[in-house]
Amino acid sequence: MISLGIGDVTRPLCPAVIEAMHRATDEMAHKETFRGYGPEQGYEFLREAILKNDFLPRGIHLDVDEVFINDGAKSDTGNFQEILHWDNFIGVTDPIYPVYIDSNVMIGRCGTFEDGRWTNVRYMPCTAENGFVPQIPTDQHVDIIYLCYPNNPTGTVITKQELRKWVNYALKNDALILYDAAYQAYIQDPDIPHSIYEIRGARKCAIEFRSYSKTAGFTGIRCGYTIVPKDVTLATFEGERLPVHQLWHRRQCTKFNGTSYVSQRAAEAIYTPEGKAQVKETIDYYMQNAHLLLTTLRNLGYECYGGENAPYVWMKTPVGMDSWQFFEALLYGANVVCTPGVGFGPSGEGYVRFTAFGTRANTEEALRRISEWTKK
Ligand SMILES: *Cc1c(COP(=O)(O)O)cnc(C)c1O
Repeated sequence: MISLGIGDVTRPLCPAVIEAMHRATDEMAHKETFRGYGPEQGYEFLREAILKNDFLPRGIHLDVDEVFINDGAKSDTGNFQEILHWDNFIGVTDPIYPVYIDSNVMIGRCGTFEDGRWTNVRYMPCTAENGFVPQIPTDQHVDIIYLCYPNNPTGTVITKQELRKWVNYALKNDALILYDAAYQAYIQDPDIPHSIYEIRGARKCAIEFRSYSKTAGFTGIRCGYTIVPKDVTLATFEGERLPVHQLWHRRQCTKFNGTSYVSQRAAEAIYTPEGKAQVKETIDYYMQNAHLLLTTLRNLGYECYGGENAPYVWMKTPVGMDSWQFFEALLYGANVVCTPGVGFGPSGEGYVRFTAFGTRANTEEALRRISEWTKK
């Protein structure tokens, strides 16, 4: 059996990262260089490297203290909602990474579950019918908007023009955008934005989450970061404006004791010339898998999306089969595992997700089996 269902990576850490981790470990062994608790927001060496490499080249100027190093984007995308009042209304593109909704469910913000949907969540469908472009709600006020681009699970991206519409909505309606850019390193098209801060006004209404998990294989190391610009403010009941930065800073100091020193040195190494070249090689490897998946499945007659600027291919199931029926047919017919789309939300019904994070050999073998099974 071959799994093309996982969201985990398979390639090992690159040599530049491993060397940095060895050096950091040795520092921990001597009393002169040992490090205990670090700053909750992360070490300056990493925060500086982030600004210099991920933002300045794109014309984005941020302060070092607007960068909060985290232990992965899952924690912060899940935690961020807890500094906001419980009756804020959330909007999510559908299908979506389940963390956004589930973390809000746990705090009691989502109402009750009826017919596969939470009553207090605005689902914004992204399907082949609308070209995977979410429509801005006009009939209902949304306070917290979750956007994830490049998207997990659909592998689709957002143009600057479409993203600008969301930023304008947020500015006009006093909404907060939580922007998950965990897959930005996979963007190939030069016109697609890597950061929401490429859009004017976003630093007043958006928080951005980044992760080294998919970028550099850090799923087992645990390191990423969250950008909280000081210009983002929220209304209080008393009618004042409060900087989100202050709230998040306080939240982190109370509940988080920082990402490990060794992990942060590992992340810093990604920004060295060797690190950059090695990481790019791995991303190219996965994107070649994505290309193989996309072209082979399309040649077999399947309707596929994504896979060009993201490591996921989103496939429509054949007529008459829902997500789980196709999953089961593929499992028993070809011994290949995919992810049923409906697991990512109601609009994921009738789709499955294939990952490009497998090894080349497994991807090729899985595709050979799918071809044989499809032609039967
Ligand atoms: C994998 C993934 C993350 C990153 O998770 P980490 O906690 O950084 O490992 C964040 N968002 C999405 C949409 C993901 O798929």
